[in-house]
Amino acid sequence: MKENKYRAFLIKYAEIGLKGKNRRFFEDCLVTQIRTRLELLGEYLVTKEQGRVFVECPEDFDYEDTVAALKTVFGIASFSPVVIIDTIAWDTLLPVVGNYVDTFFPEKNFSFKVECKRGNKDYFMTSPQICVEVGAYLLKRFPELRVDVHCPQHYITVEVRNRAYVYSEVIAGPGGMPVGSSGKAMLLLSGGIDSPVAGYMISKRGVSLDAVYFHAPPYTSERAKQKVVDLAEIISAYTGPIRLHVVNFTDIQMYIYETCPHEELTILMRRYMMRIAETIAKETACLALVTGESIGQVASQTMQSLQATNAVCTMPVFRPLIGFDKQEIVEISEKIGTYETSILPYEDCCTIFVAKHPVTKPSIRVIERSEKLLFGKIEEMVDKALQTREVISVGNKTPE
Ligand code: ATP
Ligand code: MG
Repeated sequence: MKENKYRAFLIKYAEIGLKGKNRRFFEDCLVTQIRTRLELLGEYLVTKEQGRVFVECPEDFDYEDTVAALKTVFGIASFSPVVIIDTIAWDTLLPVVGNYVDTFFPEKNFSFKVECKRGNKDYFMTSPQICVEVGAYLLKRFPELRVDVHCPQHYITVEVRNRAYVYSEVIAGPGGMPVGSSGKAMLLLSGGIDSPVAGYMISKRGVSLDAVYFHAPPYTSERAKQKVVDLAEIISAYTGPIRLHVVNFTDIQMYIYETCPHEELTILMRRYMMRIAETIAKETACLALVTGESIGQVASQTMQSLQATNAVCTMPVFRPLIGFDKQEIVEISEKIGTYETSILPYEDCCTIFVAKHPVTKPSIRVIERSEKLLFGKIEEMVDKALQTREVISVGNKTPE
């Protein structure tokens, strides 16, 4: 098929079509997201019409780039390169559909089925009538064509609305809900494989993201931090702009290391991470925290460890990977393009002081007793970590 002859895309959305009175709101979010994404590529015209969104492309648009950009917009169920026919006058419509087939299918030896959707219910023909007429016209004009209503090689779909649209190809979108339709959450983003995937998945439900990274210089390097910035940049193609809060965690980590039993270090550190993340989340109007935890993946992610970590949070903590195997997470990270960056071998603040035999079934009572040893001094360290955090804007159009 000669894609470069297309000048427009027809966008279908599934779930957001079901939202009753809120439908308009969701549609507007989707249109905004598509506009924002395409703005980077050129001057596109994005409009909505009766349960569809249409994208009309500038003269010099790049087909592949446009398709790639649309594949990152949550809320799009599928999309089709489409030819827009400005008139729905039947005498004009038929030959234009014929020309479409002629242009896009130079080889005519294929089977086809015509499908019709009639958004314009006042139109003088019904959908089945349109299908029959278009099919007959095409067969007459291109005798090598064959109709196959069960298993056609190509569908020729005609939609009659205020204008008419004809298309054949359906490209899968990422699904989900448009970002911005569900509030904001704070992602605890490390340099690993899991947390970027967790961010992607929550964002797929329409949630925009801020992120926090706990950095422990000089134990973790500038390159480790850059890796996290890079990961945020990659997922921002889907999630939209992210404000990444980089918190210096060294003093807190060292103090816990010096003061508490080493086998409890990871849990105690994670409790402080959650507390700090929640404080920043509240300051930045986030409604939840997001982590990349999955049950049993490591000692700090057993049911008991998760309970001990969760106990310090008052906000909901979303763990979209909780029931996923590592391989399933890896597959998503490959799909969204974070995997290659995630596996770069830079140190992580969680692994540096890790005990040989960390507790796997911590009791909250025991953990709280150890934590008491920190009180009196750690509060100041937490305040300092919050105050000295660096905020890095990632992705385009991040508000300063
Ligand atoms: P990941 O691949 O996301 O690093 P992991 O398997 O290494 O996960 P942990 O190191 O136990 O798991 O971390 C569990 C979760 O805690 C991470 O998914 C992330 O959400 C959060 N987290 C861990 N370390 C950090 C950090 N340095 N900064 C921010 N969040 C972190
Ligand atoms: Mg990690």
